[in-house]
Amino acid sequence: MTEGNTQPEVNIGLVGHVDHGKTTLVQALSGSWTDQHSEEMKRGISIRLGYADAAFRRCPGLDAPECYTVDEECEDGSASEPIRTVSFVDAPGHETLMATMLSGASIMDGAVLVVSATEDVPQAQTEEHLMALDLIGIENIVIAQNKVDLVDRDRAVDNHRQIQEFVEGTVAEDAPIVPVSAQQEVNLDLLIDAIETEIPTPDRDPGESARMYAARSFDINRPGATAADLKGGVVGGSLVSGELSVGDGLEIRPGREVDEEGQTEWRPLETTVRSLQAGSNDVESARPGGLLGVGTGLDPSLTKGDALAGQVAGEPGTLPPTRNEFEMQVDLLDRVVGEEDDESGESDIEEISTGEPLMLTVGTATTVGAVTSARDGECEVSLKRPVCAEAGAQIAINRRVGARWRLIGVGTLS
Ligand code: GDP
Ligand code: MG
Repeated sequence: MTEGNTQPEVNIGLVGHVDHGKTTLVQALSGSWTDQHSEEMKRGISIRLGYADAAFRRCPGLDAPECYTVDEECEDGSASEPIRTVSFVDAPGHETLMATMLSGASIMDGAVLVVSATEDVPQAQTEEHLMALDLIGIENIVIAQNKVDLVDRDRAVDNHRQIQEFVEGTVAEDAPIVPVSAQQEVNLDLLIDAIETEIPTPDRDPGESARMYAARSFDINRPGATAADLKGGVVGGSLVSGELSVGDGLEIRPGREVDEEGQTEWRPLETTVRSLQAGSNDVESARPGGLLGVGTGLDPSLTKGDALAGQVAGEPGTLPPTRNEFEMQVDLLDRVVGEEDDESGESDIEEISTGEPLMLTVGTATTVGAVTSARDGECEVSLKRPVCAEAGAQIAINRRVGARWRLIGVGTLS
């Protein structure tokens, strides 16, 4: 990433089938590799949401799209000018990780759907991820037809047609399809042009109270740090509204589980914002866009190992209630998406039934719930782990099908 970046102002999801080139594309646009975790490196897949900021720039004297670049120096040696910093959320393409992808979708303002020109369209997660964008209501989409360096012209044209047919009637119907090579850095100017046009920075009201979805949380202390050196817990996530400043009070819900006389209950945490990190910069205050690291006064044992991932943070007294159970309106998909055609017809989706377990993604939280009552288009669930969510919140509903959780529909919290 270039030094001195301004805070990113928009979050753009990178979605699509595994190995189609999402991480390579993010790297080409931002100069950083989002697969940072050693475990991810080992497995070669992005198992957690990875953020990378990219500063889009313009070369003076050139017209669009040729003027767009991520380099500070233009081809003629002149200096480029910054236009906008965007934050890419690199969602995992591996098939068992749909929930993580959906939890990323809740903080995306738009998406780039990466489709490899070397394979038939759609591959399983290409379809599943597009369906998820549709469900979550992400309408600002650009399609990157990647790996065009590996195919001849006929194959590229054929693949382009397949993509067009595939997105017909979906939320991505009018999305531009930009042929690129992430690895060879071909047509990145065209892609930036399309992103600048299709994925504008949303209008935001700075007067709203701060609300942040936590996607990560950490203990940043080295083992054996003395009490005097101990730094408070850090929460990573995205602001979805308002502004957060150093010194602000912070409430986090559901908070921590406390055990009292055999009864467990969840109590909100309260602390203050001690430091803020946007991208790699320390800042005094931050607005929505990009990944934010919030240094708090919390005991780091509370934030260790993503313990607060999925929780909601914000101005004390303004957060939605913590729910151990809730009722939702349910819209089921017509069939399980991303399924290879199977002759048994098992991809039809049956109604939700009382007693069945569901995996629910609410904001950045993923929780398992048991259905306590199911009626036409409505059901009640009792959660293993409570969530902080308000009426009207969108919920991705997953059912266990065979060995994995499959997306079967979307709920709206009553
Ligand atoms: P992801 O799973 O979607 O994040 O895919 P990766 O970015 O990890 O890419 C998968 C493989 O495809 C890697 O070996 C990349 O080097 C390769 N790759 C990605 N983009 C391109 C491209 O445009 N051209 C070629 N030839 N290879 C690419
Ligand atoms: Mg990847």
